[in-house]
Amino acid sequence: MIMEEKTIMNTNLSVQHILAVLPHPDDESFVAAGTLAKYIAEGAQVTFACLTLGEMGRNMGIPPFANRVTLPAIRKVELEDSCRAIGIQDLRMLGFHDKMIEFEDRELLDGAIMALLQELNPDIVITFYPGYSVHPDHDATGAAVVRTIGQLAEEERPVVLCSAFSSNHEQMIGRADVTVDVTAFLASKMASIQAHRSQFQAAELVGNRVLTQEEIISRYGTEQFWTYRFS
Ligand SMILES: [Zn+2]
Repeated sequence: MIMEEKTIMNTNLSVQHILAVLPHPDDESFVAAGTLAKYIAEGAQVTFACLTLGEMGRNMGIPPFANRVTLPAIRKVELEDSCRAIGIQDLRMLGFHDKMIEFEDRELLDGAIMALLQELNPDIVITFYPGYSVHPDHDATGAAVVRTIGQLAEEERPVVLCSAFSSNHEQMIGRADVTVDVTAFLASKMASIQAHRSQFQAAELVGNRVLTQEEIISRYGTEQFWTYRFS
Protein backbone atom coordinates (compact mmCIF):
# COMPACT_ATOMS: atom_id res chain seq x y z
CA MET A 1 0.00 0.00 0.00
CA ILE A 2 2.72 2.41 0.99
CA MET A 3 4.73 1.54 -2.11
CA GLU A 4 1.78 2.23 -4.35
CA GLU A 5 1.35 5.56 -2.72
CA LYS A 6 4.98 6.37 -3.39
CA THR A 7 4.32 5.97 -7.09
CA ILE A 8 2.49 9.27 -7.18
CA MET A 9 4.86 10.85 -4.71
CA ASN A 10 7.78 9.91 -6.95
CA THR A 11 6.24 11.21 -10.12
CA ASN A 12 5.27 14.40 -8.31
CA LEU A 13 7.96 14.95 -5.75
CA SER A 14 6.20 18.01 -4.53
CA VAL A 15 2.49 18.17 -5.23
CA GLN A 16 1.68 21.85 -5.24
CA HIS A 17 -1.78 21.99 -6.67
CA ILE A 18 -4.55 19.43 -6.95
CA LEU A 19 -7.69 20.07 -8.95
CA ALA A 20 -10.71 17.91 -8.21
CA VAL A 21 -13.39 17.97 -10.89
CA LEU A 22 -16.54 16.23 -9.72
CA PRO A 23 -20.20 16.84 -10.53
CA HIS A 24 -21.99 16.77 -7.17
CA PRO A 25 -21.65 18.20 -3.71
CA ASP A 26 -20.70 15.16 -1.58
CA ASP A 27 -18.69 13.42 -4.34
CA GLU A 28 -15.63 15.02 -2.76
CA SER A 29 -16.51 13.47 0.61
CA PHE A 30 -16.64 9.88 -0.55
CA VAL A 31 -14.10 9.99 -3.37
CA ALA A 32 -11.20 11.96 -2.04
CA ALA A 33 -11.80 13.78 1.25
CA GLY A 34 -8.99 11.93 3.03
CA THR A 35 -6.55 12.18 0.14
CA LEU A 36 -7.18 15.90 -0.24
CA ALA A 37 -6.87 16.50 3.50
CA LYS A 38 -3.60 14.58 3.49
CA TYR A 39 -2.08 16.59 0.64
CA ILE A 40 -3.32 19.84 2.16
CA ALA A 41 -1.60 18.88 5.42
CA GLU A 42 1.57 18.41 3.37
CA GLY A 43 1.23 21.91 1.96
CA ALA A 44 -0.70 21.45 -1.28
CA GLN A 45 -3.30 23.85 -2.61
CA VAL A 46 -6.59 22.24 -3.58
CA THR A 47 -9.21 23.56 -5.93
CA PHE A 48 -12.52 21.74 -6.06
CA ALA A 49 -14.52 22.44 -9.20
CA CYS A 50 -18.00 21.20 -8.38
CA LEU A 51 -19.94 21.15 -11.61
CA THR A 52 -23.49 21.25 -10.16
CA LEU A 53 -25.27 21.98 -6.92
CA GLY A 54 -26.94 18.58 -6.88
CA GLU A 55 -30.21 20.44 -7.09
CA MET A 56 -32.09 17.45 -8.51
CA GLY A 57 -31.25 15.30 -5.50
CA ARG A 58 -34.18 13.47 -4.00
CA ASN A 59 -32.92 13.47 -0.44
CA MET A 60 -34.28 16.38 1.56
CA GLY A 61 -32.84 15.43 4.94
CA ILE A 62 -34.01 13.03 7.61
CA PRO A 63 -36.40 14.36 8.81
CA PRO A 64 -36.90 16.54 5.70
CA PHE A 65 -35.79 20.15 6.09
CA ALA A 66 -35.31 21.05 2.43
CA ASN A 67 -37.64 21.23 -0.52
CA ARG A 68 -37.22 21.53 -4.26
CA VAL A 69 -36.95 25.32 -3.99
CA THR A 70 -34.58 25.57 -1.03
CA LEU A 71 -32.36 22.58 -1.89
CA PRO A 72 -29.80 24.37 -4.11
CA ALA A 73 -29.07 27.04 -1.48
CA ILE A 74 -28.89 24.42 1.26
CA ARG A 75 -26.54 22.20 -0.73
CA LYS A 76 -24.32 25.18 -1.45
CA VAL A 77 -23.87 25.85 2.26
CA GLU A 78 -23.30 22.14 2.92
CA LEU A 79 -20.65 22.07 0.22
CA GLU A 80 -18.86 25.05 1.74
CA ASP A 81 -18.96 23.34 5.14
CA SER A 82 -17.58 20.14 3.65
CA CYS A 83 -14.71 22.01 1.98
CA ARG A 84 -13.94 23.71 5.28
CA ALA A 85 -13.84 20.30 7.00
CA ILE A 86 -11.34 19.01 4.45
CA GLY A 87 -9.33 22.24 4.36
CA ILE A 88 -9.97 22.93 0.66
CA GLN A 89 -8.84 26.48 0.01
CA ASP A 90 -10.54 27.13 -3.32
CA LEU A 91 -14.08 26.04 -4.18
CA ARG A 92 -15.49 26.77 -7.60
CA MET A 93 -19.17 26.16 -8.25
CA LEU A 94 -19.43 25.96 -11.99
CA GLY A 95 -23.22 26.09 -12.24
CA PHE A 96 -23.91 23.26 -14.65
CA HIS A 97 -27.23 21.46 -14.30
CA ASP A 98 -27.50 18.43 -12.07
CA LYS A 99 -28.28 15.15 -13.90
CA MET A 100 -27.53 16.91 -17.21
CA ILE A 101 -23.75 16.75 -17.55
CA GLU A 102 -23.91 14.21 -20.37
CA PHE A 103 -26.13 16.60 -22.34
CA GLU A 104 -24.10 19.75 -21.73
CA ASP A 105 -22.58 21.58 -24.63
CA ARG A 106 -19.15 19.97 -24.91
CA GLU A 107 -17.39 23.16 -25.89
CA LEU A 108 -18.76 24.89 -22.83
CA LEU A 109 -17.96 22.04 -20.47
CA ASP A 110 -14.50 21.28 -21.85
CA GLY A 111 -13.79 25.00 -22.09
CA ALA A 112 -14.55 25.47 -18.39
CA ILE A 113 -12.21 22.61 -17.51
CA MET A 114 -9.47 23.87 -19.85
CA ALA A 115 -9.71 27.34 -18.31
CA LEU A 116 -9.11 25.82 -14.86
CA LEU A 117 -6.17 23.76 -16.12
CA GLN A 118 -4.57 26.83 -17.66
CA GLU A 119 -5.19 29.01 -14.65
CA LEU A 120 -4.09 26.52 -11.98
CA ASN A 121 -1.59 24.26 -13.74
CA PRO A 122 -2.36 21.38 -11.33
CA ASP A 123 0.03 18.48 -10.75
CA ILE A 124 -2.84 16.09 -10.10
CA VAL A 125 -6.43 16.11 -11.29
CA ILE A 126 -8.94 13.93 -9.46
CA THR A 127 -12.13 12.89 -11.22
CA PHE A 128 -14.29 9.86 -12.00
CA TYR A 129 -13.18 7.08 -14.32
CA PRO A 130 -15.34 7.53 -17.42
CA GLY A 131 -17.57 4.51 -17.90
CA TYR A 132 -16.99 2.95 -14.49
CA SER A 133 -18.53 5.39 -12.08
CA VAL A 134 -22.22 4.40 -12.09
CA HIS A 135 -23.95 7.78 -12.34
CA PRO A 136 -24.21 9.37 -15.81
CA ASP A 137 -22.99 12.69 -14.38
CA HIS A 138 -19.92 10.96 -12.94
CA ASP A 139 -19.08 9.25 -16.22
CA ALA A 140 -19.70 12.40 -18.26
CA THR A 141 -17.54 14.48 -15.91
CA GLY A 142 -14.66 12.02 -16.11
CA ALA A 143 -15.03 11.86 -19.89
CA ALA A 144 -14.87 15.65 -20.17
CA VAL A 145 -11.77 15.80 -17.97
CA VAL A 146 -9.81 13.18 -19.91
CA ARG A 147 -10.98 14.60 -23.22
CA THR A 148 -9.76 18.05 -22.23
CA ILE A 149 -6.47 16.92 -20.69
CA GLY A 150 -5.92 14.69 -23.72
CA GLN A 151 -5.73 17.86 -25.79
CA LEU A 152 -2.69 19.07 -23.87
CA ALA A 153 0.78 18.11 -25.02
CA GLU A 154 1.84 14.94 -23.25
CA GLU A 155 4.47 16.67 -21.12
CA GLU A 156 1.94 19.26 -19.95
CA ARG A 157 -0.62 16.77 -18.73
CA PRO A 158 -1.22 16.48 -15.01
CA VAL A 159 -1.51 13.03 -13.45
CA VAL A 160 -5.18 12.07 -13.63
CA LEU A 161 -6.40 9.99 -10.72
CA CYS A 162 -9.82 8.46 -11.27
CA SER A 163 -12.30 6.99 -8.84
CA ALA A 164 -14.20 3.94 -10.09
CA PHE A 165 -16.81 1.77 -8.44
CA SER A 166 -19.16 0.22 -10.99
CA SER A 167 -19.75 -3.49 -10.33
CA ASN A 168 -17.60 -4.58 -13.29
CA HIS A 169 -14.81 -2.05 -12.94
CA GLU A 170 -12.04 -4.38 -11.73
CA GLN A 171 -12.67 -6.83 -14.57
CA MET A 172 -12.40 -4.02 -17.08
CA ILE A 173 -9.68 -1.74 -15.75
CA GLY A 174 -7.91 -3.93 -13.22
CA ARG A 175 -7.15 -3.03 -9.65
CA ALA A 176 -6.50 0.48 -8.46
CA ASP A 177 -2.86 1.46 -8.78
CA VAL A 178 -3.04 4.16 -6.13
CA THR A 179 -4.24 3.38 -2.63
CA VAL A 180 -4.06 6.16 -0.11
CA ASP A 181 -4.18 5.38 3.58
CA VAL A 182 -6.32 8.17 5.03
CA THR A 183 -6.81 6.85 8.55
CA ALA A 184 -4.98 9.87 9.95
CA PHE A 185 -7.51 12.13 8.22
CA LEU A 186 -10.71 10.28 9.06
CA ALA A 187 -11.97 13.04 11.34
CA SER A 188 -11.89 15.48 8.42
CA LYS A 189 -13.43 12.94 6.09
CA MET A 190 -16.30 12.07 8.43
CA ALA A 191 -16.93 15.78 9.07
CA SER A 192 -17.04 16.32 5.31
CA ILE A 193 -19.52 13.47 4.83
CA GLN A 194 -21.71 14.74 7.63
CA ALA A 195 -21.58 18.34 6.37
CA HIS A 196 -23.92 17.22 3.61
CA ARG A 197 -26.79 17.19 6.06
CA SER A 198 -29.59 16.99 3.47
CA GLN A 199 -27.94 13.99 1.83
CA PHE A 200 -26.49 12.31 4.86
CA GLN A 201 -28.20 9.00 5.42
CA ALA A 202 -27.83 7.95 9.00
CA ALA A 203 -28.09 4.34 7.81
CA GLU A 204 -25.16 4.79 5.45
CA LEU A 205 -22.88 5.62 8.27
CA VAL A 206 -24.22 3.93 11.34
CA GLY A 207 -26.99 1.45 10.53
CA ASN A 208 -29.01 1.27 13.69
CA ARG A 209 -25.98 1.64 15.87
CA VAL A 210 -22.81 3.63 16.01
CA LEU A 211 -19.99 2.16 13.91
CA THR A 212 -16.97 1.12 15.87
CA GLN A 213 -13.72 2.89 15.08
CA GLU A 214 -12.57 -0.34 13.42
CA GLU A 215 -15.59 -0.37 11.12
CA ILE A 216 -15.10 3.27 10.22
CA ILE A 217 -11.47 2.57 9.34
CA SER A 218 -12.31 -0.47 7.24
CA ARG A 219 -15.07 1.37 5.39
CA TYR A 220 -13.50 4.80 4.99
CA GLY A 221 -9.81 4.42 5.86
CA THR A 222 -8.46 4.00 2.35
CA GLU A 223 -9.18 5.77 -0.92
CA GLN A 224 -8.39 4.15 -4.23
CA PHE A 225 -7.64 5.63 -7.60
CA TRP A 226 -6.79 4.48 -11.09
CA THR A 227 -4.21 6.54 -12.91
CA TYR A 228 -5.72 7.33 -16.28
CA ARG A 229 -3.53 6.13 -19.14
CA PHE A 230 -3.79 8.26 -22.24
CA SER A 231 -3.11 5.99 -25.19
ZN1 LIG B 1 -22.16 12.13 -7.39
